[in-house]
Amino acid sequence: MTFKELNIIEPILKALTEKEYTLPTPIQAQAIPVLLNNRDILGCAQTGTGKTAAFAIPIIQQIIQERESGKYRDIKALILTPTRELAIQIDESFTDYAKYTPLRHCVIFGGVKQKSQTDKLQKGVDVLIATPGRLLDLINQKYISLNSISHFVLDEADRMLDMGFIHDIKRILPLLPRDRQTLFFSATMPPVIATLAKSILRNPVKVEVAPVSSTIDTIKQYMYFVEKEEKKRLLVKLLNKDKELSVLVFSRTKHGANKIAQHLCKEGIESDAIHGNKSQNARQRALTNFKSRATRVLIATDIAARGIDIEQLPLVINYDLPEVPETYVHRIGRTGRAGCEGISISFCNKEEKQQLKDIQKLIGKTIQVLKYQE
Ligand code: AMP
Repeated sequence: MTFKELNIIEPILKALTEKEYTLPTPIQAQAIPVLLNNRDILGCAQTGTGKTAAFAIPIIQQIIQERESGKYRDIKALILTPTRELAIQIDESFTDYAKYTPLRHCVIFGGVKQKSQTDKLQKGVDVLIATPGRLLDLINQKYISLNSISHFVLDEADRMLDMGFIHDIKRILPLLPRDRQTLFFSATMPPVIATLAKSILRNPVKVEVAPVSSTIDTIKQYMYFVEKEEKKRLLVKLLNKDKELSVLVFSRTKHGANKIAQHLCKEGIESDAIHGNKSQNARQRALTNFKSRATRVLIATDIAARGIDIEQLPLVINYDLPEVPETYVHRIGRTGRAGCEGISISFCNKEEKQQLKDIQKLIGKTIQVLKYQE
C-alpha cells in the first residue's frame, strides 16, 4: 500500500516524497482511509509509530477539500496534546506535510507570553495545536472560538490524565460542536481512559499498532547494578567511551537532572538539562542544540522528554529507573527509531530492584546485566 493508493492529494504527496516517506507506516495505512471517510478513531499507539502523520495528513486533506467549497478561515481542527514539546513537534509536522497547501496552522502553549500566539490567531488559522491550559485561557479571553471545529484530536490521553489535565479537558469538550470527527489516541487504555473515549467518540474504528512491549525489540537493552554513589562515575565512564555519541540521559527528578548536568560539565562533558522548571525558551534551546549535535548529552525528566523525536539517537541511559514501568518503554523508545540500531543502558541500585522487576514483567524479558569495573 502506497500513499498514492491511500488517495492522498498531490500537494501532500509531494511533501511526503521530499521527507523521503516511501511507504505508510502500519498505523498510517490503517488510519488514513478511515479518517478520510470521516469516521471517528480510537487509536492505541505510542509515539514513534508515525501516529502524527496518521492524523495530520487526513486532517490537512479534508480541510483543503472543504476549503475549496468556500468556507471561511475559522479554526476547523483542534489538536490537544499534553506537553509543549509535543505541541511544537506536531506543529512542525503540519508545517512539513502542508508545505504545498494553503493551510494555516498555529501552536499555543503556556509558559511563554501570549502575544505572538494571539497575533497569529487573529490572522486566522485552519488548524490549532494546543495544550489544555493555554487553550482555556485564550478561550476565556475570547481570542479563540471552537464553534467551527469539525475535527478534534485528543492526543496522548493517558498522559493527559497522568498530568492532571482531565478537568481542563472536561471543560473544553462541551465547547466543541457535536457534529464533528473525533480522533482519540492513547498508548495505554486504563478504564478511566476507556470511559472517556466512549463518552466522546461516535461509533469509532479501533486502530491498534505494536503493543508497548514489541516496539522495542530492535533496541539492545543492557543494565548495570550500581550503588547510588557510583552512578555518576559510571555515567562519566560510559560517556567517555565514545566521545562522538549523542546520548539522552533520563533522571527521575528535575533536581537530579541539574546535578547530573553540573557534574558532567565539571568533567568536561558538554551537556544540558531539560525539565519543567526551565523556561520554555531554555528548553527549546537545549533541544535544538541537542538535535543539531551542538550539545552531545541531554539530561531529561520524563515529562520534558515525552514525545521528543530525535532522529538517529543511538543511546539512551536510564540514570534512575522510572516508577511506572511503561515509562521505561517510552524512554528507550527514543532510540532505535525507523529501523536504526538503538542501545539502552539502565542503572539500578538496591532501592530500585522492585521497579526493575516490574519493568521486566512488562517487557516480558530479562535485561542483560553488564559488570561495572572501576
Ligand atoms: P510519530 O510517531 O508521529 O512521533 O513519528 C515518528 C517518526 O517517524 C517521525 O520522525 C516521523 O517523521 C517519522 N515518520 C512518520 N511516518 C513515516 C513514514 N511513512 N516513513 C518514514 N518515516 C516516517
